[in-house]
Amino acid sequence: MNYEIVIGLEVHLQLNTKSKAFCGCSTDFGSAPNSQVCPVCLGFPGSLPVLNRQALELGAKVAITLNCQIAKKIRFDRKNYFYPDLPKGYQISQFNQPLAQKGFLAIEILQSFGLQDEPSAINIEKNNSMAQKKIRIRRVHLEEDTGKLFHQKDSSLIDFNRSGIPLLEIVSEPDLSSPQEAYLYLTALKSILEYIDVSDCNMEEGSLRCDANISVRKKGDRELGTKSEIKNMNSFKGVKLALEYEANRQISLLEEGGRIIQETRLYNAEKGITEPMRSKEDAHDYRYFPEPDLAPFNFEEDHLELIEKDIPELPEPKKNRFLKDYQLSNYDAGIMASDKDIADYFERCAALYDNPKTVANWLMGDILAYMKDNNILIKDLNLKPEHLSGMLKMIDSGVITGKIAKTLLIEAIQTGKEPGKLVKEKGLEQISDISLLEAAASQVIAENPKTAEDFKNGKDSALMFLIGKVMQKTKGRANPSKVNEILREKLKGAQ
Ligand code: ADP
Ligand code: MG
Ligand code: ZN
Repeated sequence: MNYEIVIGLEVHLQLNTKSKAFCGCSTDFGSAPNSQVCPVCLGFPGSLPVLNRQALELGAKVAITLNCQIAKKIRFDRKNYFYPDLPKGYQISQFNQPLAQKGFLAIEILQSFGLQDEPSAINIEKNNSMAQKKIRIRRVHLEEDTGKLFHQKDSSLIDFNRSGIPLLEIVSEPDLSSPQEAYLYLTALKSILEYIDVSDCNMEEGSLRCDANISVRKKGDRELGTKSEIKNMNSFKGVKLALEYEANRQISLLEEGGRIIQETRLYNAEKGITEPMRSKEDAHDYRYFPEPDLAPFNFEEDHLELIEKDIPELPEPKKNRFLKDYQLSNYDAGIMASDKDIADYFERCAALYDNPKTVANWLMGDILAYMKDNNILIKDLNLKPEHLSGMLKMIDSGVITGKIAKTLLIEAIQTGKEPGKLVKEKGLEQISDISLLEAAASQVIAENPKTAEDFKNGKDSALMFLIGKVMQKTKGRANPSKVNEILREKLKGAQ
């Protein structure tokens, strides 16, 4: 491909403060429309904003985490425009002097070494390894949210509960080179934001929104191409798909001799395309000016230190520690560290059970699958770390089979009961009495003479079928390798 893709992302984050940015109204999601409003967030003349200290602190926490320089002087500006969801006629935001600037976020990408344009799959395997890429953060600033419009057939309704909720805008430099990198950036950003507990980052509820800017240019060109800005994506996948579509659209247009115009486009998820919304010609002139009702102020140095102390170990250092302390693979460590609650759970189990790799396997396999299927978070999971480690110990000591453990696990989650108790209650102990296994094996051979014959005639796969039958008969309580042994012995003897 002769083109290079250039992407910069603007992320709006709803900060999880109890009250709004400039008044005391609640920020609870899902309350009755217009039940969380006051003269300030409804924009009544004469009402005065007071900055929410927690919003400022959460913003600073994000800025520090993203390696930004925090402004010496904090000030706000008015961004003026008219819209029905903005009763004041302006939004309090930050223009020339944002809260913070010049940070970066590292993402992990698959890096190719000395490859030509379209590498074959085999080359990718051989020649690629993981590499870090630093995506520069241009600015981080605080602003307030608008109300929400609901358009009906003949009328529109407005809910002002959202009006005045603190938002943090995080703007990247155009350092992302593919839709996949944009996806990785968003995933890494979300993981960090969840770690530092500043937002619930729920894209469906609108607490995390992303506008994506994209342009293309001929390889080797120094100047950036004309960009379009895409809005209206409601998942990270959606962002990636919208960018893929848009990159192809721009490249085809240029190839046909056309010209890209700077415009805002909307992603249509149903059709999988982007459609024009407005061009730069009707771009707003916001007539920014300093917000006269909020005096500029300085951050005290020890205040920033206190905020910094509140930042926990972040995903990347945690992953490195997991690699070292628990000898997990790169992939496993990455998954275990990607979510703070999962990481904590993993460490609590690893402290109780001496094979961390096995803990990671169960977590990544059956447990995460169960959580996903039932839409529950690990903090709501009804399985104590002691219960999981207890179950793993029962497998090791031969009390139960691995097969039984799989169903036992689900039962333990559903009932919250201790797995050891469940084993006793339900009689799930592994059958240790060899004569019982031998009886079951003889029975299975007698019931499946043809398969037994096949095995004797050299068809190895026939044995798997017979083992399966014995496992069925013993309701999973037999040790499969014992059964294998016994069946082989019996069939050999019968020859
Ligand atoms: P605007 O004034 O239209 O909002 P900005 O210069 O403020 O544009 O940039 C907004 C976002 O767009 C940033 O994330 C930036 O990295 C990205 N961006 C700017 N120029 C380009 C470009 N030519 N191609 C891709 N992204 C760009
Ligand atoms: Mg923009
Ligand atoms: Zn209010």
